[in-house]
Amino acid sequence: MVFFFFTCGEHTFTSRLKGYEDVTVQCMNCGNVSAHVFKRWQWFTLCFVPIIPFSFKPYHEVGCHICRFFQDIKYRPDVEANHGQIPMNGYGAQHPAGAAAAAAPPEQHQYK
Ligand SMILES: [Zn+2]
Repeated sequence: MVFFFFTCGEHTFTSRLKGYEDVTVQCMNCGNVSAHVFKRWQWFTLCFVPIIPFSFKPYHEVGCHICRFFQDIKYRPDVEANHGQIPMNGYGAQHPAGAAAAAAPPEQHQYK
């Protein structure tokens, strides 16, 4: 006996924005240099299979993994302005304050 469940929902794909993989910027919410640039794309799902994208273009957001704060990249002109101009390689590794903050558990959750 086979049952069919038609379950509607949504699925959000999140990945690092291409070209920004090595970019680490300051979080405007908690102040830590721990935010990365993400591409977020929401899809309508049927039976857990993504069928239709909610938007034609993915959102580009700056997200902080410490306080879970996300904001649209259009509010961060500094991120796009700095992109490709400041060498960020090795910066995170030589940043003990940032490493300690990254190891700390998130104390607050903030969802948009
Ligand atoms: Zn933060």
